[in-house]
Amino acid sequence: MSKPRVATTSLAGCFGCHMSLLDIDERILQLIELVDFDRSPIDDIKHISQRCAIGLIEGGCCNEENVHVLHEFRENCDVLISFGDCATMGGIPAMRNNIPLEECINEAYRDGVTVYNPKGIVPQDPEIPLLLDKVYPAHEVVKIDYSLPGCPPSADTLWAALTALLTDKPVELPYELLKYD
Ligand code: SF4
Repeated sequence: MSKPRVATTSLAGCFGCHMSLLDIDERILQLIELVDFDRSPIDDIKHISQRCAIGLIEGGCCNEENVHVLHEFRENCDVLISFGDCATMGGIPAMRNNIPLEECINEAYRDGVTVYNPKGIVPQDPEIPLLLDKVYPAHEVVKIDYSLPGCPPSADTLWAALTALLTDKPVELPYELLKYD
């Protein structure tokens, strides 16, 4: 019988949530007995190849490609999980929401103290995805089924949530597995 598939992605994230997923250590051997991985930074699959039981979203949406990928996950995953504060509420990247986008771009490419850019050129190759006006948590872009807070959520939190879902049990996390830092 084929195993359920799990896809994961990092949008406007730092990959720290994926590192926390890998912190399940030797339990990863149990995990690959339970599931097959589809599109994920931990393999080389570029687009979701088959219907997935679970999609894990790290990071919110800061650019148009993030939105595109998030829609791909929503359309192809039965259950979509925001993991980490960036996906669930925007996280640290959403601190830019208080600053006009043009000001952020000027600081990064023209006015920052470490910037050397005498012509004041801002990257604008069409290959580069356009920034959104703000950083949006995943649930403001598509429907999200579960949110796991933490920066990052602990390996034990991720393990508890994933194994509950994969064995058709309710996701009931004890207090000590819930944190927002
Ligand atoms: S929640 Fe924290 S660890 Fe996860 S992607 Fe965001 S900044 Fe990184």
